Amino acid sequence: MQDRPKEKVLPPKADFSAWYHELIRRTLVDQRVPMTGFLVYKPLGYELFLNCMHILEDELAKTGHKKCYFPTLIPEHLLKREEHHIAGFSNEVFWVTHGGESKLEEKAALRPTSETIMYEMLKLWIRSWRDLPLKIHQSCSVFRYETKHTRPLIRDREILWNEAHTNHATAKEAAAQIDVGIKIYSELFRRLAIPVIWIDVVAGVFAGAEAAVEPYTIFPEGRVLEMGSVNNLGQRFSRVFDVKFKTEDGRDEYVYQTCYGVSERPLAAIVAVHGDDKGLVLPPEIAPTQAVIVPIPYEANKKKILNGARALKEKLKGFRIELDDREQITPGEKFYEWEMAGVPVRIEIGPKDLEKGGATLVRRDTGKKEFVKTDKIAARLEQMFVEIFKNMTDCAKRYHDSKIKAVKSIEDVKKAVTSDMLAQLAWCGELECAAKIEKAVDTPFIGKDHYQTTKGKCVGCGKPAKFLGYVGKMY
Ligand SMILES: [Zn+2]
Repeated sequence: MQDRPKEKVLPPKADFSAWYHELIRRTLVDQRVPMTGFLVYKPLGYELFLNCMHILEDELAKTGHKKCYFPTLIPEHLLKREEHHIAGFSNEVFWVTHGGESKLEEKAALRPTSETIMYEMLKLWIRSWRDLPLKIHQSCSVFRYETKHTRPLIRDREILWNEAHTNHATAKEAAAQIDVGIKIYSELFRRLAIPVIWIDVVAGVFAGAEAAVEPYTIFPEGRVLEMGSVNNLGQRFSRVFDVKFKTEDGRDEYVYQTCYGVSERPLAAIVAVHGDDKGLVLPPEIAPTQAVIVPIPYEANKKKILNGARALKEKLKGFRIELDDREQITPGEKFYEWEMAGVPVRIEIGPKDLEKGGATLVRRDTGKKEFVKTDKIAARLEQMFVEIFKNMTDCAKRYHDSKIKAVKSIEDVKKAVTSDMLAQLAWCGELECAAKIEKAVDTPFIGKDHYQTTKGKCVGCGKPAKFLGYVGKMY
């Protein structure tokens, strides 16, 4: 048998950027397409993304959001109507100018997000207080001509995402909806075993929003990745788009709105947070293949082993199981491939396993091996998935906590940031003070902790602190 041409060895995770790019190209996405900044999702990558989206869509459905779909093209006049909004996206919009050979009367944007086109329609749908709250969401792709360097699954020009938009009769209800949005995303990240810090953005909120809170996770390079955004729009858009309703006592009032979105970035987080030198490590709930059966046949009992493997696959129908019975590839090469693909459990069946009436289960997260009798494998797998998820959650949390450094001086902020940590500091709440800290350490002041506060003295000015601020490198 001729050897297949060998792919180069995966760089170690310590060489993060090289490891990340090589690993995702071999498993999830391929960016070698003729359009710079665009991606091809390979089967594993796309299925993994959809599995994450299904969790999200289920949570949205449970909390009363209805699914819908709006057009990809947004006429220029709509996009330009809200001044902060268009200012925020001015450098990022792809424009469609022609239909066939003829120039369009009005150019149209490939949606960078859907507020403008949605709210133009909501104006027609919302009439009275009885129509509220109205909560919709859509899974689609949005387009942003990023001028910064693109990076697959982190900064792409076509972004797969889900965006939710809610409409309320009062500011209080809209504020309460922000907590619902945070809870929905927190549940998603919990099930991906990705630890996050929720940060109130203090400058540069979503274009047109009054306030934004965003979930961040920390990558090995010490940079933080923003994985979504939950925005309180107040009445800014509803005033511009004339989304009004009749109150119970007959007055005309503008609706209060929120919007929140999460993109494919959680995939990047799954890779970066859980992956190791051998490749991806996927949480069992979202892994497209939860376990792979690899027969290890020897000439004399080849048939028997293959039959045993097939019978086992049949028994494990309730899981997402692959049987790798390719004859042209050695078991060792199969192990290598499936480990790189992050499959949570490998089930080996060799002559000894067959003799003892079972198989050897190998965990991807720890590498631990365990012999299990055939009739116990289904139950053991179920249990093992819970153990794997727990271990992945604990490891990720430990790592995350180890990357946060509580600091007491500007000097220490600098030290933390240069040693690839996220600096956590007491902050007075003044924007000028945040700007001063940011300038002194030449690193972004990201925002303040959404949940935790602190007393002590502000690291920037020495005045009494109210908030816990974060300074760190960002993607
Ligand atoms: Zn201060």
